[in-house]
Amino acid sequence: MTAMTVIPSTQTGLPTEPYVGRHFINGKWQDSADGETFERVAPSHGVVVSRNAKGSEVETEAAIHAARAAFDSGIWSRISAKARAAVLLKVADLIEANVERFALIETLETGKPITQATGEISGAADLWRYAASLARTTKGDSHNTLGEDILGVVVKEPIGVVSVITPWNFPFWILSQKLPFALAAGCTCVVKPSEMTPSTTAMLGELIDEAGMPPGVVNIVLGYGQPVGSLMSSHREVDMITFTGSTAVGKTISAAASGTLKKVALELGGKNPQVIFADADLESAADAVTFGVYFNAGECCNSGSRIIVHEDIAEAFTARVIELSRLVAFGDPLDPRTQVGAMVTPQHQEKVDGYVKAAVAAGAKVGLGGDRLKVPGLKGDFYQPTVVTGVTPDMAIAREEVFGPVLSVLTFRTMDEAISIANNASYGLSAGVWSENVHTVLEFSRRAQAGTVWSNTWMDGFPELTFGGMKESGQGREIGSYGLEEFLEVKSLVMRIGRTRAPWVKAL
Ligand code: NAD
Repeated sequence: MTAMTVIPSTQTGLPTEPYVGRHFINGKWQDSADGETFERVAPSHGVVVSRNAKGSEVETEAAIHAARAAFDSGIWSRISAKARAAVLLKVADLIEANVERFALIETLETGKPITQATGEISGAADLWRYAASLARTTKGDSHNTLGEDILGVVVKEPIGVVSVITPWNFPFWILSQKLPFALAAGCTCVVKPSEMTPSTTAMLGELIDEAGMPPGVVNIVLGYGQPVGSLMSSHREVDMITFTGSTAVGKTISAAASGTLKKVALELGGKNPQVIFADADLESAADAVTFGVYFNAGECCNSGSRIIVHEDIAEAFTARVIELSRLVAFGDPLDPRTQVGAMVTPQHQEKVDGYVKAAVAAGAKVGLGGDRLKVPGLKGDFYQPTVVTGVTPDMAIAREEVFGPVLSVLTFRTMDEAISIANNASYGLSAGVWSENVHTVLEFSRRAQAGTVWSNTWMDGFPELTFGGMKESGQGREIGSYGLEEFLEVKSLVMRIGRTRAPWVKAL
C-alpha cells in the first residue's frame, strides 16, 4: 500500500523579486515614517516573498484620521447605493483580471496550494459582487399604523469607521468577507492584514485605487498586532471592529474596545465535529471527512478536526479514511497536482506535533502520520496527514483547536451521547451530521451548538448563507444579508403630521 502521496518540488514558478508592500493611507502609498520594514519568507520554499513597511502608531493614527474624515465628509457614506455598488463591481472585475498574480503571492505567503489560492481569489470577486447587490437592496421599515397624525420610519445608516483585522490562513477570502460588506453599507475602513500574509491585501489597495474609490475610504496599514491592531481596537475615532483570528486575540480586542464601547464582531476558532451514524452513505462521508481535515493543511477555522463515529462502523470507517488519506497529494504548493501544502511557520508545526504527542502519551493511537513530512526538493515545514484513534473527550486534542492536518476519532452509541460529545467544546463554529434518516439529521441539526450545521456534506458555502460562531467561536455574523446588517445602525424617525400634539405645559 502507498505510504503517502508526496509531490516533490521542481523549484519552478517562483517570482524573481519580492513584492514591496507599502501602507495605503488617504489615497497615497507610503513607507513607514521611521523607515522600519519586515519580510515574509515562504514557508514552503524559504524565499523572501515580500518586504513590507512596518506600521507604527504614526501610520495607524494617520489611517484612522483619514477614514474618520472621509466618513464625516459624506463622500462615500452619503452617496447613493448605486454609486457605491458601481465601485464595488469595478473592484470585482479587477480582481478577476488579476487572479494569477494574486494567487502566486497568496500561495507563497500562506503555503497553500496554487489551485486553491486561485479558487479563493476568483471566488472573492463574487463576494464583492454580492455585497454590491446588497448595497442596492438595503432598506428599513415604515410604520403607517401608529395613528392618523404619526408616521414612523426606521432607517439604516452606516455605522461609521470600521477597523478590519484579518488572519493568515485565508488572507484574501476573509478580507473579502468583510471589506465589501462594510463598504456596501457606506462605512469607511482601516485594514490590517496579518504580518505573515500582508501582500494580497496591499495589492487589493492597488485595485481599489484603480477602481476610483475616493481617498480615505479604504486605508491599509501593514504591521503587527502591537501597536497597529491594538490601536485600531481602542481608538476613539473608530466605531466598530471586525476581527477574524484566534479566540485569545479576540478576547483582547473585546477588552480593548470596551473603553469606548465600540461594536465588536468576532470570527474566531473552532473545534468542529462531524457525527457519522451507521446508516450514512459511508463512502461520501469518508471522502468529506478526508477533505474536511486536510483542506488548507487543517489551518482552517472550519477544519473538521474531530469525527464522532457510531461504534458499529468506527473501525471500518476509520480504515477507509486512512486509505483515502494516503491518496491526498501533499507537497510543493506551486505544483497544480498538490492538494495540501506547507504549514505556516515552524513554531506552528511544533504546536501541532505537540498535540499529537500529548494524545499518544494519554493513551491515544496514531493510525497514520504523526510526524513532520519530508518533501523532496524543499526544506519547508510540512506535516504528515495524521489520524489519531482512541481519542477520549477529555483529551486536549478532542477539545482544543489543533489547526493542522490531524484528525481525532471518537465514538458514540446513542444520539444523546453524540450530541453531548459534539457540544463538549468551548467553541461552536460548525458541525456536521451524516445519516440517510431525515429525523436523525434534523434532530442533530437542531441540537448542535454551532453557527453552521452541514448535513451529508462539509464546508459547502455561499455568499448568500450567513456565517459565524456560537460560544467562544465569536459574535456577530458575516456574509449573507446579516453580514451587511452588522455594519448598519438602525435609527427611528418619528414624524407628526399637523399640529395635533397636546401641549405638555399647562398654565395652572
Ligand atoms: P491571530 O489571532 O494570531 O491574529 C489575527 C490578526 O490579529 C493578525 O492580523 C494579528 O496581527 C492581529 N493581532 C494580534 N494581536 C493583536 C492585538 N493585541 N490587537 C489587535 N490585533 C492583533 O490569528 P491567526 O493566527 O492569524 O489566525 C488563526 C486563527 O484564526 C485561528 O484560531 C482560526 O480558527 C481563526 N480563524 C477564524 C475564522 C472564522 O471565520 N471563524 C476564519 C479564519 C481563521
